Amino acid sequence: MTESHDPTETRYAPERRAELAERLEAVRARIDAAAAEAGRVDSPDLIVVTKRFPASDACALADLGVRLMGENRDQEAAPKARAVAEALPEAMRPSWHFIGQLQSNKAKSAVRYADAVHSVDRASLAPALDKAMARALEAGERQGLLPVLPCLIQVSLDPDAESGRGGVQPERLGEVAEALEAADHLELRGLMAVAPLGADPVEAFGRLSEIRGSLVSECPRATWLSAGMSQDLEAAVAAGATHVRIGSDVLGPRAAVG
Ligand SMILES: *Cc1c(COP(=O)(O)O)cnc(C)c1O
Repeated sequence: MTESHDPTETRYAPERRAELAERLEAVRARIDAAAAEAGRVDSPDLIVVTKRFPASDACALADLGVRLMGENRDQEAAPKARAVAEALPEAMRPSWHFIGQLQSNKAKSAVRYADAVHSVDRASLAPALDKAMARALEAGERQGLLPVLPCLIQVSLDPDAESGRGGVQPERLGEVAEALEAADHLELRGLMAVAPLGADPVEAFGRLSEIRGSLVSECPRATWLSAGMSQDLEAAVAAGATHVRIGSDVLGPRAAVG
């Protein structure tokens, strides 16, 4: 992808669709193999992370049967989601999962397209999202979207908070959980995490699985576990991930952040 691409362009070339089909199939095979290897009877849901790729790729992926897509910046996701929704018939429209750090002032925009937020990393985001949901519901801006927003708490697996890849430290999980539980239009569904850079993902996701166990014992509904990216999906599937978030192994290498 080059900078000259219009991110809201929705027409795709047949060659690009074929390339995505091949890569998607390889990723699906990896997920199934990892699930079988772990003795799982279920297979996690695949969220294809379309960040920094144009709406045309999202449309091609939708045509290939992908129904869950992830984005990490509202500035990019909002126009892309709108373009994709306009280009595709209702039955093919993807469900957008927001997976990046969300500023409270972007909550209002995010709830117009997001069907889940994986990255609640502080208690104060809950009332901001809740208020945004109330407004969006009242204004009829969530047509075709869930009336209650599934939310995951992003937990840091890096004890050194300064160098971390985001998320709340596990000892502060309770605060964020309470804030979500207190919100009328949000539902605490589970946890999300990113393996720390340079660390063993098996060990990191093992800890995540323990943290999940204690959360589920207090909140039986919070069963989602969003973990696993292109590099470490096998470790995440083994640790019980219910949602894996795969970008580059499906779409190819990303352009640097602009
Ligand atoms: C970009 C991103 C992904 C996908 O990463 P890949 O390594 O490209 O598969 C997953 N999760 C989050 C939070 C991301 O920002």
